[in-house]
Amino acid sequence: MTKEIDHAVALKIKASERFLIVSHIRPDADAAGSVLGLGLALNMMGKTVQMVLVDGAEKFHYLPGWEEVIPLPVGETDMIVVVDCSNPDRVGSALDEYGQPDLVVDHHKTNLAFGDINVVEPEQVATAAILFDHFPAWGLPFNADVATCLLAGIVGDTIGFRTPNVDAELMRKAAALMDLGGDLTKIYNEELVMRSFSAIRYWGCGLGRLEYENGLVWTSLTLADREKVGYAGDDDADLVNVLSAVREAKIALIFVEQPNNTVKVSWRTRPGLDVSGIAYQFGGGGHAAAAGADIVGTLTSVQQRVIHATHQLYESRQDE
Ligand code: AMP
Ligand code: MN
Ligand code: MN
Repeated sequence: MTKEIDHAVALKIKASERFLIVSHIRPDADAAGSVLGLGLALNMMGKTVQMVLVDGAEKFHYLPGWEEVIPLPVGETDMIVVVDCSNPDRVGSALDEYGQPDLVVDHHKTNLAFGDINVVEPEQVATAAILFDHFPAWGLPFNADVATCLLAGIVGDTIGFRTPNVDAELMRKAAALMDLGGDLTKIYNEELVMRSFSAIRYWGCGLGRLEYENGLVWTSLTLADREKVGYAGDDDADLVNVLSAVREAKIALIFVEQPNNTVKVSWRTRPGLDVSGIAYQFGGGGHAAAAGADIVGTLTSVQQRVIHATHQLYESRQDE
């Protein structure tokens, strides 16, 4: 089965000249690393590639090829590939003028299999790890730049090899990418350690309002916070991963106010609990340990509804 799919992907790649590679809005390192890793490999084969992230790739300035990423595709294409994206809405407006993707490569268990061919492997830690595994069968080459991009995806989604799905096999993949020239130290520091002064002050706004109740820790970030500290992004600057450090908490949540009466919610949990279902229930998706949703409503109302539902989830699991 898998071999047949690999064969179909290899044939389609061989027969195509113009590629469009897209990932999700508000890209993380797995989204950017997968787009760039696949795009640079196709470039090496002499293919024409448009690498698309609707929110741009500036925050991934440490990844080779990031300047080539464009916010919207133009013109015709022979093959559309969507990576690290569980549903078609998550590509934003990138494919509005285009049809269904030819290939979807993803590791979200909430993936809707919206491509002609779907390579969805929820047991994998990152889409970049799926690409690493399938590149040889798909006829795609590696070089140091490709390896750095794929390694960035793995480092990002495992938060630096810290998630419970990290095993010896994954470390062997990471080592193989280092052998190919992947620059682990650089991407580890850029991705997980270095932050701008305004981002750390932004954390301060959220940390100042930190709340804890019965296994849940949470806080919010407002539009006013962003303006006050001059933080340019519309995300949480990874503050939710800082909240995950609270020892008493089993689930960490963050609520990030957005301009259009929407709130971006992120859940993080310890092993044993699964927050993907609750995110899905609120119109989002994700993984057992990390999930998110964009929910319409004011910060206060969304926070109330989500905290209530998450408390219920946590308490029902405790009864089991
Ligand atoms: P985040 O909390 O944004 O870091 O996302 C955690 C995980 O949930 C990532 O794997 C995302 O791809 C996924 N996710 C976040 N927001 C959404 C959403 N609105 N719809 C579907 N999946 C999401
Ligand atoms: Mn992602
Ligand atoms: Mn991912």
